[in-house]
Formats: sequence, structure tokens, C-alpha cells
Amino acid sequence: MNPARSFQSIRQIRLTNTLSGKKELLETLQPGKLSFYSCGPTVYGLIHIGNLRGGLVADMFFRYFQRVGYEVIYVRNYTDIDDKIIQRARDENIQSEEIAKKYTQEVEKDYAWVGMLEPTHKTKATEHIPEIILMIEQMIHRGNAYVVEGGEVLYAIDQFPLYGKLSHKKLDDLISGIRVEVNSKKRNPLDFILWKPAKPEEPYWESPWGPGRPGWHIECSAMARKWLGDCIDVHHGGEDLIFPHHENEIAQSEGALGKAPFVKVWLHHAFLTLSEKKMSKSLGNGLTARDFLSRFSGEVARYLLLSIHYRSIINFSSDLIAQAVSNLQRIYEAKARAQDLLCSLGKSRSDLRAEGIWGEFAASCEKARSVMDEHFANDFNTPAVLGELFTLIREFNRTLAEPLAQATPSAILGASELIGVIEEDLGGILGVGRLEAKHALEDLARMKVSLSGGETSETEVKNLLTEEEILAAIEARAVARKLKDYAAADAIRKDLERKGVLIQDGPVGTSWVYQ
Ligand SMILES: [Zn+2]
Repeated sequence: MNPARSFQSIRQIRLTNTLSGKKELLETLQPGKLSFYSCGPTVYGLIHIGNLRGGLVADMFFRYFQRVGYEVIYVRNYTDIDDKIIQRARDENIQSEEIAKKYTQEVEKDYAWVGMLEPTHKTKATEHIPEIILMIEQMIHRGNAYVVEGGEVLYAIDQFPLYGKLSHKKLDDLISGIRVEVNSKKRNPLDFILWKPAKPEEPYWESPWGPGRPGWHIECSAMARKWLGDCIDVHHGGEDLIFPHHENEIAQSEGALGKAPFVKVWLHHAFLTLSEKKMSKSLGNGLTARDFLSRFSGEVARYLLLSIHYRSIINFSSDLIAQAVSNLQRIYEAKARAQDLLCSLGKSRSDLRAEGIWGEFAASCEKARSVMDEHFANDFNTPAVLGELFTLIREFNRTLAEPLAQATPSAILGASELIGVIEEDLGGILGVGRLEAKHALEDLARMKVSLSGGETSETEVKNLLTEEEILAAIEARAVARKLKDYAAADAIRKDLERKGVLIQDGPVGTSWVYQ
């Protein structure tokens, strides 16, 4: 980046800040720099399509903040110690760190599949235990936390009068919304755990309060502080994290340091529902990102999950998938046509520009580019961005659809400008439209056939096997084969095929693929 670049020239962005409940102009703590923290997944299984939405929304924010000129430090965490991870480790009879390691790798595969940019820092709770302990000690010292019998450390809500400021709720309303524990050692029912003593055979770290592990909320406060400082510009997460997770992060960070605000702008994306039910891993009936990506593609996932405004609920359905596929087809059809036009002249966009060739459609592209940017800067209004793009594509189809032989230089320049809008102005932020058009169209046509053939009706999407189920079936088949029960092994293979999974035995084991 040019060091002389003036930060005054950075585009103004308006964002809906959960803290104020209003759309505000983004003003960072240090001009030209932006610190950004996004709460990542707890790694105890494959992520669901709703988690993928969270990752992609953060990726879109990151791309746009950088594009407008901010020097961004982006931190995304993995919660790698947690009750669910410990339970999963028990179920699988392995160490909890192995579970966390395995599923961190799986999450990264999904993230790479959809082409997410790497954050500046990917942090793990277990690699920040000293920072966590220090922060808890500071809270105890300031009277914001207390130690109870058995080595448990709790946050004292009553010492933080602003508790509830993010969720805009009064303490009484918050209390009525939680399960009050019987025989609790808590002074206030809303007090939450900062340090949890280890039960026998649970993983633990030594601490001033005995062996134990951190509570969930403290890790984000400690990691944000270590990598971004005491006060940060933008913090993002799903709206289900507003209370208690983010409310607790504020209480911890502001309580431990006596500095406010911990975060200037809080951004929250809305839920993704599947058949009207909130999808969450704990319900166990969600659709994994892996299922979706195996069946469709990273680009369809990006389009579907980002074309809807990040603050609107997504009612996930096969209709929505079909719509995403059709819209991507429209984009790639226009791109393919534009590429044909460009090839017919054999000149590049910069050649044409250098020759001073301009035309009406090229001017429309220029205008669309600035309107799309306005929409991104207006709280990431992606439906309006896409609306503008499709208006432009309609104009292209209407005005520049003459036979190639009659193409004028200005039409060809228009075509090259359209490719620029698709690849840079849309692709650079939403991450779609950048593939080779003809290949992309072939893939999309295949998906369309699969969708219209009824093979992917909504019920079937829901019934797609998870990777774990597939691996378990492959394992069961291997056992049957070892026992020479070939009939049973064959029945498992046929059952998988019926559910759309093809398996293949190779020299290093059995691989699988969705049909
Ligand atoms: Zn968090």
C-alpha cells in the first residue's frame, strides 16, 4: 500500500451498530487503521451452513474494509476447549485436543473451499491461557470477579452497572430469561464463569485458583486484547451471541481494564433457519457446510449466503439454492458473451481505454460501479448491489447483443468494462463471478439439472448424510469385509449409493463422493 495514501480519502461506511441500535458512520480509533474481531466456531464437529454464513459475512466485511483503503487487522478465533469438546472426546475415546485439532482442520477445509481470505491472526483459546489468567486476576483485583469454594471464579455482574447495554435489556428481564441454578454459589443469577475447576479426568491448566479451564466468554476478551488492544473498532458475530456472550465480553473487558468502550461498533448477522427451525449444532439436525459444498459449490454457497442482507434471516430451502444457481448463470452468461466480444477484437481492456474509445454502455458500467459501492458502504446492502448488477446485465443483453461480426469497438470496450464490474466490483467483495465463465456455466447447468430433476428436493437436502455418518458406514463396511460378511458389506455400499454417496476402494483406503 502506498504509505502516502491519505486516509481522508477512505470511503465513508455506514454500519448498523447493535450497541446504539442505529446506523452510524464508521470512525475508527486510529485514522486509516481498523481492528476487527469475529467470533469463530467451537470445534467439536463439522460446521453447519449457518456457521458458514457467519464466516462468509466476516470475510465480506474484511474484503470491503481493505478495499476502501483501511489497514485491517482481522482476528478470528477457534474455541478449542469447551464442555462439548470434552464430551465429544469422551464419546470417541480420544483426547479433547485431538478432537479440537481434527475439527479445526475440517473447518479450515470448508473455509478454503468457499475461498475465504485468511485472517491476520487465527487464535485458539488454549494458546492464550496466561493472558486469560492475567485478565481474571485483574478483574478480581478490581472487584469485578470473585473466587468461590472449589476454585471457581465468577464475574460479579452487580459491579458492572452497564450490563445489558448491548442487548438493550434491563437486568430483571435478563434474569427472567435464564435458567436459575439451584444451590448456586452465584451472588447474582447472571454472574458467569470465568474459570472452571477441572473434574477428574478433564483437561486442565494450573492457575492461582487451582487446576481448571477458562469459561467460554473470557477467551474472546483476552484474545481481542492481546492482538488488537484494549479498545477495538469492529466486533462481529451471530445475533445469538449478543446475549450472553458479547454482553459478557463487554463486562469482562471494560471491567478488567476500566476502559470503555471495549468495542466501537458491534455487527451481528441474523439466523439461518432450516424448515422454520433455528439451526444450531446442539439441535443436531442442521445441514453441514460439507454436505452443501459436496453437492453444490463454494461459489453457490457464497452467492446464496451473501445475496441476502446480513441482518435478514435466511430461510434456507431448495428454492433458494435454485435461485442462487439461476442468478449465477445469468452473471456467467453475460460474462461469457462479453468475453466472446472481447476475443473478437483481440485487444485488451487497457488497449481500448488507451485508444480513448468510450461508449454509452461503458458509461453505464462506470455508473453501476459507483452505485454498487454506495450500496456496499450503506451497511452492506448486498441485495441492492446485485439489483444494480442485474440492471446492468439487462442493458448489456439488450444493447450489445448484436452478432459478433458487427461488434463496434465501443461495444467491445463495454464488454470489457462489464467483465471488470463482475470480477472486481462484485467478485472482489462477494467473491463470486471470478471463475472461467464457460466452465462455471457447465457446472451450474449440472446443478440445475440435479435440482429440477427432483433429486435435491428439500427433504432430500435435509437427509443428506453428514461426513461422520458416511465415515461410520465406510468403517462398518470395512469391518464386515474383514469378517468376510460380504453380503452385509454390499448392503452398506448399496445403502450409501441410494443416499447419493459413491464409494471407491483404493490402495490407501476407501474414498467417497456425492453423486
Ligand atoms: Zn467470542
